[in-house]
Amino acid sequence: RDLAELDARVSVCRACPRLVDWREDVAVTKRRAFADESYWGRPIPGWGDAAPRFLVVGLAPAAHGGNRTGRIFTGDRSGDWLFASLHRVGLAVQETSTHAGDGQRLLGGRMVAAVRCAPPANKPTVAERDTCAPWLEEEIRLVEPSVRAIVALGAYGWEATLRTFASLGVDVGRPRPRFGHGAETTLPKRSGGTVTLLGCFHPSQQNTFTGRLTEPMLDAVMTRAKEVSDD
Ligand code: SF4
Repeated sequence: RDLAELDARVSVCRACPRLVDWREDVAVTKRRAFADESYWGRPIPGWGDAAPRFLVVGLAPAAHGGNRTGRIFTGDRSGDWLFASLHRVGLAVQETSTHAGDGQRLLGGRMVAAVRCAPPANKPTVAERDTCAPWLEEEIRLVEPSVRAIVALGAYGWEATLRTFASLGVDVGRPRPRFGHGAETTLPKRSGGTVTLLGCFHPSQQNTFTGRLTEPMLDAVMTRAKEVSDD
């Protein structure tokens, strides 16, 4: 099995009835600013390099962001912050990402969502999280050999990554490493060597509007991801 086959399977998944309804309703009702666009309205596959050195793990696509454009963090405010930072530190070729096919490219990286469908209020249920977990497991299993650094966005991305490694049989430590902005822990890889897990506050408007997350804070974590993945 490879990433293309995984992407094909995940993009037609209908395992969570509430999320299927939501992603499809949003795709029909749309936001007025995007009324002329066709929404993707389906699960969001991982995006980026097939043999990435760094991986960004987010929560779930935004209703009018990834759920509209079909590409994770593309066309929403969180993505604006994320791509601008990745570009500043030399990990993305453009500072913005507006739509799939816009020329944006990650330099040796890949992005994935822990939950592949847009949830109402950005909050998947625990059951939905667990139902979607095998997709993340499969993706991490496929890219793990090349990955050196994982940037986990928010406690949700951090916990999802640790749960994934644990379910793949990796000893993630007990108690599990705690999330924080700038938190760092090393995990053994099944394929040999280690991967560095980096915690980063999620670049949601809740964090960026309030100043909880600033551009220098975000750049510091991305710079560290670059250092580790270039090593
Ligand atoms: Fe499938 Fe995941 Fe979407 Fe649920 S959230 S329908 S498991 S892709």
